[in-house]
Amino acid sequence: MKKIFVIGLGPGKHEYMSMASMEAIKASDVVVGYKTYIDLVEDLIKDKKVISSGMKKEIDRCEIVLNEAKEDKIVSLISSGDAGVYGMAGIMLEVLNKDGSDIEIEIVPGITASNGAASSLGAPIMHDYATISLSDLLTDWELIKKRIHCAGEGDFVVALYNPKSKGRQKHIEIARDILLKYKDGNTPVGIVRNAKRDGETVRITTLNDMLNEKIDMLTTVIIGNSKTYVKNNKMITPRGYNL
Ligand code: SAH
Repeated sequence: MKKIFVIGLGPGKHEYMSMASMEAIKASDVVVGYKTYIDLVEDLIKDKKVISSGMKKEIDRCEIVLNEAKEDKIVSLISSGDAGVYGMAGIMLEVLNKDGSDIEIEIVPGITASNGAASSLGAPIMHDYATISLSDLLTDWELIKKRIHCAGEGDFVVALYNPKSKGRQKHIEIARDILLKYKDGNTPVGIVRNAKRDGETVRITTLNDMLNEKIDMLTTVIIGNSKTYVKNNKMITPRGYNL
């Protein structure tokens, strides 16, 4: 019976969680995740063993999940958004591979931040887009900058995750300066904080002015392509229909 679910809870509010993730959580004996995510599903897990690993590192958390599953339990590892987008799914698969165990694993998709943010802005990611995380904890900053250049050169819409933290203030400025080499200063930029959660804020500005807005770790920044425009306070990236 043992099984591991890796679940994306979506951006926050319950109504943006999938039925599949609800069912998986209900079917679980043990639920593991950051305290903030545990709180989001508190009402669903009252009868379960809950391991909220606030301080633990990601790999430790996956090892806890693996050990619980080896005890013949159904275990859910929960992350926000989609667990396969800068989330826990890849780490869990790698930990399982390293262990060599044959425990069944299922990744349950969730609405990722760029989808949640895009819907609040209008339709900015109607065409090819690149998601880029500005966190250089695990990725070399030189490589991140190269990817920003390539996304700019390719006229991609760009969704920036992890745009700014207390210890990482300048990266967003550098990212904007790189994109200004390829994109017009009037290119629309959408800034969504707490997308599809309580306290959501939605701002539409331009590449020139975006740094005047509040940007932090609860924010996703979506920068348009050369065709993106704003009408009636909605950001639209046209697909090419002649309307
Ligand atoms: N697995 C998550 C992403 C984790 S990385 C997902 O698929 O959404 C964390 C970054 O995601 C944050 O710094 C922020 O840029 C973005 N993010 C996550 N939830 C968000 C939300 N509700 N509103 C705005 N941005 C969000």
